[in-house]
Amino acid sequence: MNPVITADDLRFDAEHIWHPYTSMHNRYPQTPVIAAEGVMLTLADGRQLIDGMSSWWSTIHGYNHPHLNAAIKQQADSMSHVMFGGLTHKPAIELARRLLSMVPDTLQQVFFADSGSVSVEVAIKMAIQYWHAAGKPEKQRLLTIRNGYHGDTFGAMATCDPVNGMHELFTGVLPQHLFAPAPQCGYDQEWDENDISELKQMLEQHHHEIAALIMEPVVQGAGGMRFYSPHYVRRARELCDQFGVLLILDEIATGFGRTGSLFACQQAGIAPDILCLGKALTGGYMTLAATLCTQQVSDTISAAGVFMHGPTFMANPLACAVANASLEILEAGTWRNQVAGIEEGLRRGLAQCQQLSTVAEVRVMGAIGVVELKQPVDMADIQPRFVEQGVWVRPFGKLVYVMPPYVMGAEQLERLTTGIYRVLSSC
Ligand SMILES: *Cc1c(COP(=O)(O)O)cnc(C)c1O
Repeated sequence: MNPVITADDLRFDAEHIWHPYTSMHNRYPQTPVIAAEGVMLTLADGRQLIDGMSSWWSTIHGYNHPHLNAAIKQQADSMSHVMFGGLTHKPAIELARRLLSMVPDTLQQVFFADSGSVSVEVAIKMAIQYWHAAGKPEKQRLLTIRNGYHGDTFGAMATCDPVNGMHELFTGVLPQHLFAPAPQCGYDQEWDENDISELKQMLEQHHHEIAALIMEPVVQGAGGMRFYSPHYVRRARELCDQFGVLLILDEIATGFGRTGSLFACQQAGIAPDILCLGKALTGGYMTLAATLCTQQVSDTISAAGVFMHGPTFMANPLACAVANASLEILEAGTWRNQVAGIEEGLRRGLAQCQQLSTVAEVRVMGAIGVVELKQPVDMADIQPRFVEQGVWVRPFGKLVYVMPPYVMGAEQLERLTTGIYRVLSSC
């Protein structure tokens, strides 16, 4: 039985419940959803929407998936949670094994975190503890590239684009890290060494105080939905080695097949010292993330003492069990064709948007499609129009973008891209 959401419920929501990045005043109404199945969301009024967002990159196999449902139910019947301090359990061991078999093999240790932001906090701590243990405690700053997004907690926030990153307000309380310009060399463009010259200069000048370079490889997500040359990532790896700086790759958005390769760092043919994973890790069922590191990082920290982190719900068995089920589906390999099919469908379906005078650029990579507008959208106006078209799309700023569940069929994808075109052509 689906729940009934009354007008009174919605009034209560509007008065008492914060939603992401909203004011409690002048808030446009939240759309009530009562069920989700495959790629469809069912609204309280019975309408069905094709989900273009995968609930922020996470529900890659679709909603209400029998294999994922079974895993979480089975785990709930044996043990929903147990502390991870001093205890261990099979779902966590299995999940760590699986993750290590998928990522570049220099990554050897797994830290389970509660969310993407926390996994970034953990990565930053690892980098700082590493240099402390290595006898260089002065290496505490981070280097990053503009247009990045790494999460909403304070440590992560300090590495987000200071202008674009939605956190300008906190500038005075955040540690001041170093920001190189965002890469300009496009994904398919011929590599131009000038593109990385400022990053190189910053490393030359500041390497003695830099613990790590942190960035999203190949695709920058919430900081601008930008795609850039894998060669930049390759050069960044070389420069980190040259200047004795750790490389943290944040694949929270790009991981698990989204860009067309299992991990975006594989497109550059390199491995980071520390890797952050999240979002699609549990197939969108529960919050869980992971920070992986190399044997060298782990050995150096461990020789000096303990790693200073340990959340209450670390390695929650329900989350680990459903993550195992999601990774099992990925291991079967169907995602490759699914993502390739979505890439083709997005290219075909979004191409018509390029003709609109309001559109600056259309770009597609893997199961990510972006229509960048010349002006920011009016959310209060545009959100209901997508709903009228039967699609769930949630733009931000100038970006109307989709990253559909991998299981979206060709016909549903066409309805999604047509819906986007119709809305944008009537704006
Ligand atoms: C979403 C995201 C985060 C933050 O993850 P949360 O689970 O929202 O805390 C960090 N980095 C990237 C690249 C992301 O896309």
